[in-house]
Amino acid sequence: MFYFDDFYGKKILKSSLLKDFDCFFTTREFVLTAAQREDLNEEAGNNRKLLLEKTGCNEIYTAKQIHSTNVSIVENNKYFYDETDALISNIPNSIMLLNFADCVPIILFSPKYNVGAVVHAGWRGTALYIAFLTAKKMINNFNIDAKNIIALIGPSIGKCCFETDFDVFDKLISDKKNKTLYIEKNDKYFIDLKLLNKNQLKKAGIQNIDMCDYCTCCMSDIFFSYRKEKGLTARHSAIVKIKRG
Ligand SMILES: [Zn+2]
Repeated sequence: MFYFDDFYGKKILKSSLLKDFDCFFTTREFVLTAAQREDLNEEAGNNRKLLLEKTGCNEIYTAKQIHSTNVSIVENNKYFYDETDALISNIPNSIMLLNFADCVPIILFSPKYNVGAVVHAGWRGTALYIAFLTAKKMINNFNIDAKNIIALIGPSIGKCCFETDFDVFDKLISDKKNKTLYIEKNDKYFIDLKLLNKNQLKKAGIQNIDMCDYCTCCMSDIFFSYRKEKGLTARHSAIVKIKRG
């Protein structure tokens, strides 16, 4: 179950499955990446300082996201990953951050193994199976039993608002008989990106999955929405802290 919580005066979104850990999604109130909203640069910088100070971490590991299937395993002291859409880490006392404005944010964390991942799955990444690929890489590289991984699928554009033409629909939905994945209306397709990603995680063997109902486009007062704000928007973030060893 997802719930709003308070991170030192800033609104964040957490899941009851990982309530005791610093694994969460930020909101407009806790912007960490200004992107097109240069007026928010200073606020984002201050918020990053707050995040590091309150989690007791020194640096943020992050990436330039390009809608690829590139999954990087974080290396000690290498803080920036070029052309990467998922990060996996087991470095104690470190933070990973990726950015979103409608795309699906996914957090994977294993409290038992102290290994985590963040995934950026827009429609392209979803079509390319990035959630599945990241889960598999995490499981194989760190010898983790999939049963020990908890997955959070955060707020993203919902089936209500993610309207596409046939070409995108065709790339995303191979099983067109499965009507749980989309609604067809006047030659347009409304696709459930979160459910597609949930199915990928299940296919990778993950059973503990919390999927957020919130649509970033409908709730653009709380989250950033690329579609609603016509591209001129900042980003909310997915945050994973690897515990102190
Ligand atoms: Zn919506």
